[in-house]
Amino acid sequence: MKKVMIIGAGFAGLSAARRLSGRGLGLKVTLFDKKGYSDFLPLLPDCIGRGINPQFLICDIAKICRQLKINFIKEEVVSVDLESKHVFISSANYVYDYLIIASGSQTNFFSNQAAQNYAYALNNTNDAKKINEALVSNKFEHFIVCGGGYTGVEAAANLWLYFKKAGLEKKIIIVERAPSILGPLPDWMKIYAQDNLKSMGIEVLANSVIEEIEEDKVRVSARPVFEKAMLIWVPGVRTADFIQNLPVEKNPQGRIVVDEYLRVNPRCFCAGDTAFFEDKNNFLRMAVQFAINEGNQAAVNIIRSIKGLALEKFRPLDLGYIIPLANNKSCGEVFGFKAKGRLATGLHFMMCIFRLRGLSNRRGLIRNLLRHPAL
Ligand SMILES: Cc1cc2nc3c(=O)[nH]c(=O)nc-3n(C[C@H](O)[C@H](O)[C@H](O)COP(=O)(O)OP(=O)(O)OC[C@H]3O[C@@H](n4cnc5c(N)ncnc54)[C@H](O)[C@@H]3O)c2cc1C
Repeated sequence: MKKVMIIGAGFAGLSAARRLSGRGLGLKVTLFDKKGYSDFLPLLPDCIGRGINPQFLICDIAKICRQLKINFIKEEVVSVDLESKHVFISSANYVYDYLIIASGSQTNFFSNQAAQNYAYALNNTNDAKKINEALVSNKFEHFIVCGGGYTGVEAAANLWLYFKKAGLEKKIIIVERAPSILGPLPDWMKIYAQDNLKSMGIEVLANSVIEEIEEDKVRVSARPVFEKAMLIWVPGVRTADFIQNLPVEKNPQGRIVVDEYLRVNPRCFCAGDTAFFEDKNNFLRMAVQFAINEGNQAAVNIIRSIKGLALEKFRPLDLGYIIPLANNKSCGEVFGFKAKGRLATGLHFMMCIFRLRGLSNRRGLIRNLLRHPAL
């Protein structure tokens, strides 16, 4: 019986697990995750402004594994030996025949200890809960969002919605190192989002960096210190710690370069945010749709490899993307067409309802969305 191991129970890992658990395959599948639950990340910013209960964004991994009849080990993988085909956790090690690395990405603090100590990340449901608790305490006057990518822009807009609903006036600032926010996106989208942020009173400080961080204090590019400041840290992500030591080709974020079959080597595949896949001279962005499809394709190729069949190339289908803004003036491109305003917001939530796992989670999410209608 071939042993297939999967590291990470996010979108990619669970998609692979589902495919590998198919009847009659006769595989021994083991899934590792450092947490007991899987987070639905696309709605984290909405936990701040729209009042979505983070509880509806998680699902129990052990329960899914029982349904799929596969093993679950709730442990952090600390290293992998690709030569001897071993996965190591702190107290044991396991030999695999095939491995899928699907450990996603985590907040990158860029070795900034003060940020690690005092800033608020937004990369899992616990982070969202901590931000909400801090907001309820009402001890901050300035809200500095470090990073003007998707998550930073979404987080800032949700802070605006939170304060609008609470009837409070607070200063919200996005700090972005680059000359503009939303770096690689088309110009029309950047302008649309920028105008939108301006209409919400959110200030964007481009070409700026966070220079000093203390508890409740932040200094941005030679400006006076912001006192009573809450710092939300979303300037970028990096891959899991164990990947740093893997002797394979990686990009600067630590994403593993995979071939057209999603292979790292003949016995190891990689999927989701951890995989760096080149498509038509472009690298795929980190997104749910690619994570799910890559997880599935990696599993299909493992099955084909075991059966002695030729592997299938991964052919990504890009349905598009939306930058959801909490004032309902979202923007994006779907099936190659521009989408703006309420339509774009609606499409984003439809995607989330469709992708969210668990009927009770979906019901809870829909109830939350109806109870907190946007504007
Ligand atoms: C705030 C936010 C908003 C987003 N919005 C969108 C959006 O609107 N649309 C979209 O398409 N994408 C969005 N994304 C990106 C999307 O969520 C990711 O691309 C997707 O989650 C990647 O799936 P994954 O399976 O690779 O990783 P993840 O979903 O991150 O899962 C990785 C799993 O691996 C586990 N793990 C990590 N390290 C280890 C280890 N050493 N040992 C054991 N387990 C480990 C983690 O606990 C986790 O469960 C957003 C992301 C964030 C953070």
